[in-house]
Amino acid sequence: MVNIPKSEVNEMKRKILKALRGSGGYVSGETLSKELGISRVSIWKHIHSLKEDGYIIEASPKGYKLISSPDLLLPYEFPSLEGKIHHLREATSTMDVARELAKRGVETGTIVVAESQSRGRGRLRREWLSPEGGIYFTIILRPEISPIYAPRINLMASVAVAKTIKRLFGLRAELKWPNDVLIQGKKVCGILAEMDAEMDAINFVNLGIGINVNSSVPQFGETATSLKDVLGREISRKELFRSVVTEILRGVYPERDSSVALLPQNDIRRRAQKQALLAKADLLEEWKSLSATLNREVRIATPGEVIVGQAIDIDTTGALIVKGKDGSLRTAIAGDCIHLR
Ligand code: ATP
Repeated sequence: MVNIPKSEVNEMKRKILKALRGSGGYVSGETLSKELGISRVSIWKHIHSLKEDGYIIEASPKGYKLISSPDLLLPYEFPSLEGKIHHLREATSTMDVARELAKRGVETGTIVVAESQSRGRGRLRREWLSPEGGIYFTIILRPEISPIYAPRINLMASVAVAKTIKRLFGLRAELKWPNDVLIQGKKVCGILAEMDAEMDAINFVNLGIGINVNSSVPQFGETATSLKDVLGREISRKELFRSVVTEILRGVYPERDSSVALLPQNDIRRRAQKQALLAKADLLEEWKSLSATLNREVRIATPGEVIVGQAIDIDTTGALIVKGKDGSLRTAIAGDCIHLR
């Protein structure tokens, strides 16, 4: 059993930050102490701890003033998601922690995020290098759809990442089947989905996302890139994380407000989810328009066979359709894909 590391959420630090942000100026220790019902010494200790987290807080006779916040993915930085974020300085893998949490029944939309991972993983237990400066998280989803449509969640997530990168940075990100996001042909993001299901119902799908942001992975210099490498500057991880998560929650729960993930289950929500993930053709069309794999010569090693030919389409479950030299059509549900030409 995986030990779940304690998330660094501290209710009092959250309240202090809220008060400092709300005022925009100085807030005296006395006011904070009264409002929050703790001693001024306790306030000072929490302020000290926030400073250790990277918050710059000026202390003067007028009181405390928040000058800046660190670019860490701390729950306090995301008020709309706060109660759902399990934040870790370092995890072995956010997938391991999320699996344990999911098995314990946490709500859909719960997120495990780590500043770095010591054993991040990709498909088939391959290594995903996860130095500080990247974004590594797993979001636990409990969509009420048939398991056969689960691969759509993968597609939806890769579309969400590519669209967000385009919107925030104007970069064209492309999708390599089945699960990579590329910029200029190099991998900037990997996506991994793990499912726990019965024949006709999903218990959970844990969607893991690793993005090279202000980090580099020189070991994979030929095949990998980061947003910092491409843009030539560091970017806000907080903004990217918030945007990607919001986009993903909208993909699963189509109502505008991502907090719909918190709503109790009911027929309207169920229908809306089905519609978003299944009925709409848009997702497939969006994926196709962003695909770096379609119309390419590919070689796909599936668990049972090797398929070579031209990638011509994906079907409604996200499987890739490949046309062989003899004109025969083959469908790859999963596998390692190499772009030949
Ligand atoms: P491929 O991308 O070669 O088709 P894959 O889709 O199976 O392989 P993933 O499971 O997404 O790959 O990720 C694991 C692989 O990605 C590793 O084997 C390694 O080659 C590469 N890799 C590891 N860490 C990173 C990283 N931070 N950025 C980009 N690529 C990485």
